[in-house]
Order: sequence, then C-alpha cells, then structure tokens
Amino acid sequence: MAINVTRSSMPPFEEYCEEIRELWDSHWLTNMGAKHRQLEEDLKRYLGCGELTLFTNGHLALENVIEAFELEGEIITTPFTFASTTHAIVRCGCQPVFCDIDPVSYTLDPEKLEALITDRTAAILPVHVYGNLCDVDRIGEIAARHHLPVIYDAAHSFGVFRRGVSSACFGDAAMFSFHATKVFNTIEGGAVCCRSEEIRRRLCDLKNFGIHDEENVPYVGGNAKMNEFCAAMGICNLRHLETEIEKRRLVAERYDERLKNVEGLRVNAPQAETKPNYAYYPVVFDGFRLTRDEVFARLAAEGIIPRKYFYPLTSAFACYEGQDGFDPAATPIAAHIAARVLTLPMYADLPLETVDRICDIILKP
Ligand SMILES: *Cc1c(COP(=O)(O)O)cnc(C)c1O
Repeated sequence: MAINVTRSSMPPFEEYCEEIRELWDSHWLTNMGAKHRQLEEDLKRYLGCGELTLFTNGHLALENVIEAFELEGEIITTPFTFASTTHAIVRCGCQPVFCDIDPVSYTLDPEKLEALITDRTAAILPVHVYGNLCDVDRIGEIAARHHLPVIYDAAHSFGVFRRGVSSACFGDAAMFSFHATKVFNTIEGGAVCCRSEEIRRRLCDLKNFGIHDEENVPYVGGNAKMNEFCAAMGICNLRHLETEIEKRRLVAERYDERLKNVEGLRVNAPQAETKPNYAYYPVVFDGFRLTRDEVFARLAAEGIIPRKYFYPLTSAFACYEGQDGFDPAATPIAAHIAARVLTLPMYADLPLETVDRICDIILKP
C-alpha cells in the first residue's frame, strides 16, 4: 500500500457518532448551531485567544479577514506558501508584494521587510511555514512603526506555542485551516482569531452573506459558514490533539536521528522556547549525493509519496505569468529552497519502521 505524505487524524467512530446524535434530535445542521458554538468555545480555551470565529475552510477565512480589515493596495507576503495565501490576496483585489524568506525558518525575513513598505502598503501577511513561527516580535515592531495590520497565515501552526502563548495570539489576526490534511482537522474548516471584537463581528456577518440580522445587511458577504457535522468532528479531534502531536513527535525524532547529521541534507531546526506541532517533516537537499527530484523519484518507485511542498513558488504560477511583481528570481532564497525541499510522510500513526524504510531509501548509496 502506498505511503502518502499525510493521513488524516480521526476520532474513534463511536465517539463521533455519539457527538452527532443530538443533530438527529435538533435537526439543526448548520448556521451557527450548538456544535458550532461549542467548538468555538473549546478552541478559544485551547488557543487562549480573545476573539474567534469558524469558517467553512481556511481559504475563505483568509479572504474574509482581508475583507474585514478593508484592505486595499499592496499586501507584503512571501511566495513560499500554499496557493491559497497569494490567491486570497489577489482575489480580494489587492497586490501581493513578495518578501524573501529566512533560510532557517522558511518564514518572512524581517530584515527584508521594511524596504518593501511604501505608501501603498495596506498590511503584512506572513506565513508560519511548516509550523515554524515567524519572527513575530520583529515583524510586530516594524508593523507598529508603520501603522500596518499584521494578519498571519497560521494554517500550519495550530498547536504551536511560544512561552505558553499560542500562534493564534500573534499579530492583529491569525487564520487557521482545519483541512483534513492539517494537524487538527474538522474535515474541511478554518477559523480566524483576532484581537478586535469589531473585526470578529464583521467576520460573522461576512461569512453569512453580509447579513447582520433579518432586516439589516451591511456587507456584500458570501457564504463561508462551518456546518454542524464538521464542528462535531472538530470537537472530537480536539480531545485527541495533544496525543496526536505527541505521536508525531516520536516520528519526527526518528527522522532526526537518521537524517540530522547527513552531509548535504538539512532537517527542520527547532525554535527556541517553542512547543512545536510537528505538522510537516521538510528536508532540504543542498549538496546531497542526489537531487531533490532524484530522491522524490526513488521514494515514488517504492510506493512512498512525499511532496515538493512548496514548489513551485506562488510567484511562478502560470496564472500570474508576465504580471508585474510576480518574479521568482526576486526572492532568491525562497527560489533556492523551493528547488530543493521535500516534505516526507508525517502523521501520528506513521510506524517507526516505515520511517526507517524511508530513510534507508534516501540514504542507500
Ligand atoms: C491549507 C492551507 C491554506 C488553506 O486552507 P484550506 O482549509 O485548505 O482552505 C492556506 N494557507 C496555507 C499555508 C495552507 O497550508
């Protein structure tokens, strides 16, 4: 059987059935029902954030938060991310301005941020790539000096805490994805955490067609509500999250043991005072005997499917070809990493023998 890069976490079948039983009594399937409200409370407690609202997926959460901040003009971000980040900016009518990344954390390099700020800059939208936290202090400082909001794409960083503070609490807002492939999933789903009560209220209206109440429709909103079945999945999965992360830790440690000191191969660096979530296991092949693509082919031949994540850079996508500001060469470090990175299979139930087999295939002469 093929080993994929990830495998969704699921609660015991009976636990989920028990959780959705009430829905057969209430017949309330969506529109901010009891499960929706409970999951919001459970998440606020876990994340320790002030304001939170759920969405049908992370991408629409991101589009809605850009709208809620009424951003126009340029948004500084990075191209070393999933398609969603860049597409959300463009679909909201804004222009992404690509900042290069730090070669260790793969997140927005604050050294290169300030030079990109102009009078057209509306916000900064960095990504906590692979669950590595951005340099939130430096980014926050620069943003404050220029009076710019910071919205984090925190899709990878659910369950990451720095000095006990979750990644939901950095910046003016943070978007999470609860897609099936993420560390914590609601099948499909997402959330925005924010500081401002007003922004949270606007998000609640925006995700429900801009309807504030029956007679008052202040926004041209869409539909991005999470349904009760997804919320119930989240309630169950959240109960098991720390156990799942603990199992991921064992997988990551086994990979580390085998790959950490190999010439030309770089594993993810731990971050100081940070509790990681082991969302991904990225390896950069830089000066290794084999290229990234050769390693990919070797693994694929054995039924192991890693991912070239993130390759290509979003600034190299065909849909943006020839457009101003979309030049992968303008972010050379991001381009260098994108050409060499591979994320290896990583999930809570990945057997350590399989980790060994994957490492054997990569390391065999
Ligand atoms: C998964 C992901 C998204 C989009 O989330 P969905 O829930 O799949 O819509 C956005 N940004 C990043 C970095 C992601 O990994």
